[in-house]
Amino acid sequence: MRFLLILAFMFSAIWATEYKLKYWKDGETFSSYLTKNKIDSTKFYSQIDPDDIKFLSSIASKLPFFENVKNGILQEALIPIGEEMQMFISRKKSGEYSFDIVPLKYKIIRDEVSIKIENNCFVDIKKATNNAHIATYLKRVFKDRVDFTKLKKGDIISIKYRQKSIKGLPWEEPIIEAAYIKRGSSEYFALKNKDSYQIWSNKAQVSVVNKTITKEAVYKTFNYPLSHIRITSKFTYKRWHPILHKYRPHLGIDFGAKRGTPIYALSSGKVIYAGWMRGYGKVTKIAHGAGIVSLYAHQSKLLVKVGQIVKAHQVIGKVGSTGRSTGPHLHLGVYKRGKPINPANYIGRSVKIKDSVTSTKSVKIVHNLLKELPIRAKIVYNSLKNSHKKSYRWKSLSGTVEIAVKEKERFKKHATRVQLSNTKGDA
Ligand SMILES: [Zn+2]
Repeated sequence: MRFLLILAFMFSAIWATEYKLKYWKDGETFSSYLTKNKIDSTKFYSQIDPDDIKFLSSIASKLPFFENVKNGILQEALIPIGEEMQMFISRKKSGEYSFDIVPLKYKIIRDEVSIKIENNCFVDIKKATNNAHIATYLKRVFKDRVDFTKLKKGDIISIKYRQKSIKGLPWEEPIIEAAYIKRGSSEYFALKNKDSYQIWSNKAQVSVVNKTITKEAVYKTFNYPLSHIRITSKFTYKRWHPILHKYRPHLGIDFGAKRGTPIYALSSGKVIYAGWMRGYGKVTKIAHGAGIVSLYAHQSKLLVKVGQIVKAHQVIGKVGSTGRSTGPHLHLGVYKRGKPINPANYIGRSVKIKDSVTSTKSVKIVHNLLKELPIRAKIVYNSLKNSHKKSYRWKSLSGTVEIAVKEKERFKKHATRVQLSNTKGDA
């Protein structure tokens, strides 16, 4: 539909004097068209190349086409085939009609236009260029980013575009190559990139994207509590207790050492207990995070206080024999969330205290800011921003279009059918 509208717009202006815009009637055949115009169809068809016959039967109803009629007699008719070629029917001096398929000869006009809005942008751009389609296509470029109904007097629009032209008339749609809009304090800049436009603005454009975040597993190294290691009693659930004279679990490791030997924190952490604890005598408890606690019993001297942060290998006390003890030694316990575990699984090792966690998070991203324009875009942006150019004015045409009978052979190879877009137009 869009294509039809463009043709209608164009040709109504082009041949205002000599040509008239018509629409191919529903149910009209090429033969009935000839009969209507008193053209001898037998003679007419005899001159047509068999390859071209297919075009005669493929004219869509409501197709805009052009007639030049003088004194009730058809002089010429132009019936488009696709966007670049057309059938050309012409009355000869003899009164017979010739038929040909001819290309439309066009050139490309490249132009920049800059306007300050006085009325509304559609009226103002049309006024500046005499091309009603530029504003329509401009609006499409900025679709979701700029509300054209909110453009006000004083706002600025600069457009760099190219347009096929026949005899100074716009042919087909304009191609917006770049555009700049200043609406109040907001600036927008669009640059054509193959089939789409990239748009930058001085106003933040925020997108929300889902980002996968992986928290790496956390490991902690646990060192030995003494510099010289001599294990006198292992971790077990069943041990003959030398003082109680019965089987008792031994939920830690005993290290033999002289009284006064320095005791080291297994790893960094926070002192959560430092004091007397029944059978364990003088005790220090250190929390290492992730629910892991180490316990150091039977000390002769405590060297840290509750709440104190200790480093790995820091001296926290001295070996002794306080509490229920047969002689100087260090009883070391390790607990995970309150449950005793074998310290042998921790000491001298790097232990995973937190698993890796993968989660998806919505993250806001600010992008396409004008100040981040790539160099190539920046050149165009600066040019448009500072453009005060008066635009090329498209002609309101009168007179005929010069038709070059050229490239017919080349065209035939590529031509298939009349191609008309049926997309819903909003021009
Ligand atoms: Zn013990």
